Amino acid sequence: MTNSDTITDQVFDVESIRKDFPILQTKVYGKPLIYLDNAATTQKPLQVLQTLEKYYTEYNSNVHRGVHLLSQQATEAYEAARKKIAAFINAKHDHEVIFTKGTTNSINLVAYTYGRKFLKEGDEVLISAMEHHSNIVPWQIICEEKNAVLKVIPIDEAGELQMNEFDKLLTPKVKIVAVTYVSNSLGTVNPVREIIAKAHALNIPVLLDGAQAVQHMPLDVQELDVDFLAFSGHKMYGPTGIGILYGKEKWLNDMPPYEGGGDMISHVTFAKTTYNELPFKFEAGTPDISGAIALGSAVDYIQQAGIHAIQQWEEELIAYAYDKLAAIPSLRFIGDARHRAGAISFLIGNIHPFDTGEILDKQSIAVRTGHHCTQPLMELFHIPGTVRASFACYNTKAEVDELVRAIEKAKRMLE
Ligand code: PMP
Repeated sequence: MTNSDTITDQVFDVESIRKDFPILQTKVYGKPLIYLDNAATTQKPLQVLQTLEKYYTEYNSNVHRGVHLLSQQATEAYEAARKKIAAFINAKHDHEVIFTKGTTNSINLVAYTYGRKFLKEGDEVLISAMEHHSNIVPWQIICEEKNAVLKVIPIDEAGELQMNEFDKLLTPKVKIVAVTYVSNSLGTVNPVREIIAKAHALNIPVLLDGAQAVQHMPLDVQELDVDFLAFSGHKMYGPTGIGILYGKEKWLNDMPPYEGGGDMISHVTFAKTTYNELPFKFEAGTPDISGAIALGSAVDYIQQAGIHAIQQWEEELIAYAYDKLAAIPSLRFIGDARHRAGAISFLIGNIHPFDTGEILDKQSIAVRTGHHCTQPLMELFHIPGTVRASFACYNTKAEVDELVRAIEKAKRMLE
């Protein structure tokens, strides 16, 4: 199946999905693990774990360098993974898919290369108030270096972008717009089509932080016409240490290399180095070969379950969780966007989120508490942090019921 299929009545059997994830059998404090910290990282299915094991037990070898059989097998598997990922996001060319360490690394790559080449004094970079630190700090660093200005699209109380303010901020001074598709702290799904169309009307490229999007909804880079897309393998059932930067060929060719070293060169002399073609120009040094191949398996896994079916199941689950949580007295949601995915953030009365998190932990429920690497966003809401429950395709309504029961217990203990 490809992600262009629009089968939404595909049967999604969550119990059979759960059997693929060995860690879900783990007990925490003697009770079955309820893992609701998926926005931080998802668990891995057997198919991904077996790919890692197979690579290291059967054909571990360096890529692109050897003529021997194992090196050829590793190279083929590595490049096959690139193709799978290109198909998953519907990239026009496989070489528009660059293997990186993850979302953070992908955004840094664009900030340093695009930024170094195209930003001048007085230019502007436009981000939003709900960005992860990974989509703030790299831009701050390059803006400081270039005497450029970082501008921020404000959000409203519901945690939605103020699009009328975006319209005002989007001037020819802006040289790139970098926004998240889905907020990791609030779950807000941003109107990225509108953002891209408006930016393109002024010939401004757009980078989407897709870290919280690709695992929850179909995403087609050509249909979106997005210029750059960054995401992490470990948040989409793949291993840590591997991620993707998608970039339109035209931009990637125009940008200088990021890191120098092996694989990214065409020819080196002490006087001058010429650079390799895409995608290798941006893949200096021995890459995370096993991680890339296993990310290919994670994509296979998502495709087999069906990204539309996953989306439908998770929407049902989140709607269920939202209703159940809303019924808890003194619980208030942080962020109340009309269109949301993946995560629900909340606070209970005046209880500090860490205290809630600790009591949930003792009841074998893993949630995240704190600022979720979005400190400026927390400041806007005048809170130290939130409790965040974030969902993956293997979560169930029974787990939501347990979460609600555990929150009620925390309330009894702390209020
Ligand atoms: N952006 C968003 C929206 C995220 O949720 C995260 C991870 N929490 C990141 C960027 C950074 O991802 P990574 O740590 O995998 O580089």
